[in-house]
Amino acid sequence: MKFSRLIRSFEKLEKTSSRNAMINVLAELIKEATMKNIDKICYFVLGEIDAGYKNIHLGIGDEMAKSAIALAAGVNKQKVEEEMKEVGDLGEVAYKLVGAKQKGGEDFFTFEDALSVETVHTGLLKIATAVGSGSQEIKKKALAAMLESANPKERRYLARLATGEIRLGVGDMTVLDALAAAFLGSKKNRADLEHAYNICSDIGYVAKVLAKRGLEGVRRIRIALNRPIRPMLAQRVSEMSEIMEKIGSEVVAAEEKYDGERIQAHKEGTKVKLFSRRLTDVTDQFPEVVESVSKHIKAEKAILDGEVVAYDFDKDVFCPFQKLMQRRRKYNVKEYTEKIPVKYMLFDILYINGKSYMRKSYPERRKKLEQIVENEKYIDITRRVTSSELKEIDEFFQDCIQRCLEGMVCKSCADNSYYRAGAREWLWIKWKESYASDLSDTLDLVVVGAYAGKGKRGGTYGALLCAAYNHDEDMFQTVCKLGTGFSDKQLGRLPDKLKDAKRDRPPARVLVTKEMEADYWFAPKYILEVRGSEITESPAHTCNWREGENRGLALRFPRFERWRPGKASDQATSVQEVAGMFLGQKMEK
Ligand code: AMP
Repeated sequence: MKFSRLIRSFEKLEKTSSRNAMINVLAELIKEATMKNIDKICYFVLGEIDAGYKNIHLGIGDEMAKSAIALAAGVNKQKVEEEMKEVGDLGEVAYKLVGAKQKGGEDFFTFEDALSVETVHTGLLKIATAVGSGSQEIKKKALAAMLESANPKERRYLARLATGEIRLGVGDMTVLDALAAAFLGSKKNRADLEHAYNICSDIGYVAKVLAKRGLEGVRRIRIALNRPIRPMLAQRVSEMSEIMEKIGSEVVAAEEKYDGERIQAHKEGTKVKLFSRRLTDVTDQFPEVVESVSKHIKAEKAILDGEVVAYDFDKDVFCPFQKLMQRRRKYNVKEYTEKIPVKYMLFDILYINGKSYMRKSYPERRKKLEQIVENEKYIDITRRVTSSELKEIDEFFQDCIQRCLEGMVCKSCADNSYYRAGAREWLWIKWKESYASDLSDTLDLVVVGAYAGKGKRGGTYGALLCAAYNHDEDMFQTVCKLGTGFSDKQLGRLPDKLKDAKRDRPPARVLVTKEMEADYWFAPKYILEVRGSEITESPAHTCNWREGENRGLALRFPRFERWRPGKASDQATSVQEVAGMFLGQKMEK
């Protein structure tokens, strides 16, 4: 497929924020794809070049991209900097400048349509795999050469792809919808595609299997070692007693809830890989966990789920999340491994010695886990109680709070308590201390907009527009305008912190009422934890929007608590959860 064909779709996608229109544009594009390029097309529309977990990074920062554009255009870097100041987007700069080298600019351009999706992908992959001394120069020259052989519009998107700024606003669920529309003709079996994606985390692979072997092939996709599985998520309730009603089993297992980082470990012999909640490979960050899993899991091959938590070994207590944050680093890993030790608390097993455990019940999985984990300093199994008595569960919860834990996660012990990859259902229900008090409930919300600050807040943002995620519609719907809880320092840093997500118009898949129109817009990327007093109905916010009644749901008196860097935007609090909280409140009253 010609790269210019792909760009025609990019341009259409950029012009719409309607999700249905996006699906149609994508489905048309996918129908024209071949076996050779369907995976690449899927990656490109998401602004990626391969499945996220493969850790294939182009390593092209803005500075290098500017140098490459300068080289391709035959101008000095300063000229590129000036243009950049003017238009604010390297894609536009590449569009304007590079043609200048071929006398007469774009009219004289002779390589029209020379690039294909495949050649662009190969070129970008070459850039990504250049390592070692001299790799910076190789990357720069390779990008410059690609820009030179592209026509102006192609350059615009090449530069954006290369810098990870494709900005189409397409999400993976929208691509799955488009795949269903293109190959299955309807949404009927869309769930099978999503399930396959949840267990393999590679949309290009799902697309390829669908194109080659149809729906049956997709249904046969299995979990595999070294390919992360999208983590199962927990629901929430607003009354502790609801846990017993909702969970679907008489006996409930209440486990300690740790405030750390969700980590999935893949063990193959002595080799271990660790994946974060966002499915990135974080193996290098936790060498002690790697060693522990390698030595103390009594299975040749296994996939385990758990939480890495900072731990104070002198006092024998867990430490707060903020402490663990300091372990997020590329450099000085060894120094920080000693400074901030961690424990890997295991709570699930998904695969063992060639056999999937996803369709086994939680009690069976837990039993297996207990059989294969050898306790030692850095690795342990989550402590828990199992009971059918709310009183006992409550006692366990109180004990967790006493020991400075975040709360508990209750798990269904029913026969069908399978591991539901990527799903937020009632089989797991979280309960934190904050849920228990009327006046405070925390939500993890996505920043989608900001309002200009006035007075003391001049030069920064006065408030942020925050949204919840609607999984069914793959949309972000607003719930509050957040202006309190930030320190002066945090406030001052907001523009810088959100800089790379900034957009010049409302991003696709973000639903905002006229009343809440923001001064600045952001692609849904940054998540923060917000505490509020209650959920109320509101015509200003689009969360759980009721068309006939012209109103959605809003969080009253929101207060910033902390940033949640480990969460992907589709793991934010869901619109369905907010609706559940609202109902819970109504019942209380
Ligand atoms: P939240 O981030 O508030 O939605 O809570 C769910 C998260 O709690 C999970 O994604 C895990 O990272 C974390 N967690 C901590 N302890 C447990 C546990 N025992 N079982 C499941 N998840 C846990």
